[in-house]
Amino acid sequence: MTTETHAFKTEVRRLLDLVIHSLYSKKEIFLRELISNASDALDRARFESLTDKEHQKAEEDWKVRIRIDKEARTLVVSDNGVGMNRQEIEDNIGTIANSGTKRFLDSLSAHPENASKPELIGQFGVGFYASFMVADKVEVITRRLGSLDPALKWSSHGEDAYTLEETDRAEAGTDVILHLREGLDEYLDGWRIRSIVKQYSDYIAYPVVLETPKPDVDTEDDSSADEGEAPKEEIINSRKAIWKKSPSEVSEEAYKEFYHHVSHDFGEPGKTIHYAGEGVTEFKALLFIPKQAPMDLYMREGHHGIHLYVRNVFITDDCKALLPEYLRFIKGVVDSSDLPLNVSREMLQDDAIIRKIRKNLVAKVLKTLSEMKEKHVEDYRAFFKAFGPVLKEGLHADIENKDKLLDLMLYPSTRTEGDDWVSFRDYVDRMPAAQKEIYVLTADSVQAAKASPLLEVFKTHDYEVLFWVDPIDEWVGSAVTTYGEKTIRHIDRGELDLDKDPAEEKSEEKKQEDKEPASPLLDWMKTMLSGEVKDVRFSHRLVDSPCCLVADEHGMNATMERVMKAMGQEVPESKRILEVNPNHPVVAVMQSLHSENAENPELKDYADLLLGQALLMEGSPLKDPARFSRLVSSLMAARSSERS
Ligand code: ADP
Repeated sequence: MTTETHAFKTEVRRLLDLVIHSLYSKKEIFLRELISNASDALDRARFESLTDKEHQKAEEDWKVRIRIDKEARTLVVSDNGVGMNRQEIEDNIGTIANSGTKRFLDSLSAHPENASKPELIGQFGVGFYASFMVADKVEVITRRLGSLDPALKWSSHGEDAYTLEETDRAEAGTDVILHLREGLDEYLDGWRIRSIVKQYSDYIAYPVVLETPKPDVDTEDDSSADEGEAPKEEIINSRKAIWKKSPSEVSEEAYKEFYHHVSHDFGEPGKTIHYAGEGVTEFKALLFIPKQAPMDLYMREGHHGIHLYVRNVFITDDCKALLPEYLRFIKGVVDSSDLPLNVSREMLQDDAIIRKIRKNLVAKVLKTLSEMKEKHVEDYRAFFKAFGPVLKEGLHADIENKDKLLDLMLYPSTRTEGDDWVSFRDYVDRMPAAQKEIYVLTADSVQAAKASPLLEVFKTHDYEVLFWVDPIDEWVGSAVTTYGEKTIRHIDRGELDLDKDPAEEKSEEKKQEDKEPASPLLDWMKTMLSGEVKDVRFSHRLVDSPCCLVADEHGMNATMERVMKAMGQEVPESKRILEVNPNHPVVAVMQSLHSENAENPELKDYADLLLGQALLMEGSPLKDPARFSRLVSSLMAARSSERS
């Protein structure tokens, strides 16, 4: 194979252009990115070698090497990891594979002004391509583990193209050779490299070996006793996997660096959970609750797993079995002492040890969240804003922990202002003595909820109503029917009479006794509107408004209908109940019109107007907007002719 030239994909060219011209002051992060790639490659090689005796190595032989050559002005980062074959090179370093890098680019398309903000490079981390911040030529020599194909050399100046040719490499692994740009000799300095590695890559489980050229024998300085030909070699990272250390040994800075490594989020973790599980099964866990939701949070195929190690050996960076889906925002690592090393990724889902660890992790995470909610209110609210909708999935999915989860929920209510929320506990604690149940209104937004006529009677009783305005609230609603001893009642469903004790409602006889006296107007309206509503009845929930629509006790309300439609689901035809306020002047007018002459055509107009208003109030479309508008206009015209 001769030298081939391949053009970079457009997105790579764009990225390289930004990286090269960026004035980002912390160019040293390129080393963090390269060491992280080398460590991943070692993880994978070590994992593959578990089932392949031929490629096994002594523990201490898996290494990252950094070689400084002052004369050639090169810095080389090598590993004896998996390496890459031809296809992998093309897929990985000719396109953009890294999710962090993708996000970086996405953020640039959304906000082009960010192209001039070099600090974003550090925040997102642009992976391998960060090399071009410090090098004007990068060569990658790589050989795939377990392949008979020759090694390959990739080379590029970071412009439009890269070249590819065959070469030799004694064993599997990768060398990344950076030809440093003018003026960047600091990266040829052993001290500088040591301090960068200490800062960014100390936790890497493999030894990072720094090879510096032997000291110059011609200098006066003969402090170095060792004057052999071989370069000096030293391990410059502490190697101890950060999760194996005791929390008191780990600095905030080190946690943060590790968080970047596992999450590809270059912000700060919101909360760090570092502990050892003991008892039934032993493991170490280092988990992070991020501050911001990642872009793939709602994607089924998103990268939501925990990194799993078994006795320090990397197994997978995407173990979804370790946490339930509703905690998929948690990032981190679990290292088990009890799983067998050859555990297959497919087996993890059903493994009894994994299930025990999972149970323990869930309890720990929920406990941490609960403490955060009690002690760091602001932090918890920020957390809930980002991840509340995901956590709510647990109300449906994790019956065992439902009570704990209910205590973690926050909702806006008739008493909260702005971004404020209330928990079930606080709601119950401030309930007036006469109030027996917890009241909930589902709506599309807090604004829509606050305007609902359904709230009127609660205002007069001074009862608080919780607003469920997340689409997910409606979904989990069927699983959430009580909080402690209290029933959760949806105020837009079923019959509601605050002056009646709900406990009594159960008796059918009682219901019969309480039945409203027959009303000729209601009977007439029922027949008139039978195509559109299921029933017409007098309301106990209205004070100022003339009417509203409510669902049956188990029927579907307007919000649920909209959620289902938005999801492309078939919505079963469900008619709601029109409630009219017997104390409203409009209804009084209708009563007298009806008793004078039940055939009066104006009555039909009134009935249609009432129904139209009720539909508008709950945010539903009108069946015949033109007729509604005509009726309103003629009313207005009649009114103005009265005045003149
Ligand atoms: P990331 O490492 O975040 O995925 P990079 O742009 O740094 O993104 O690297 C892209 C891909 O190139 C990696 O996912 C990996 O598959 C491959 N790669 C990079 N460096 C190495 C290496 N030293 N050994 C093997 N593969 C590598």
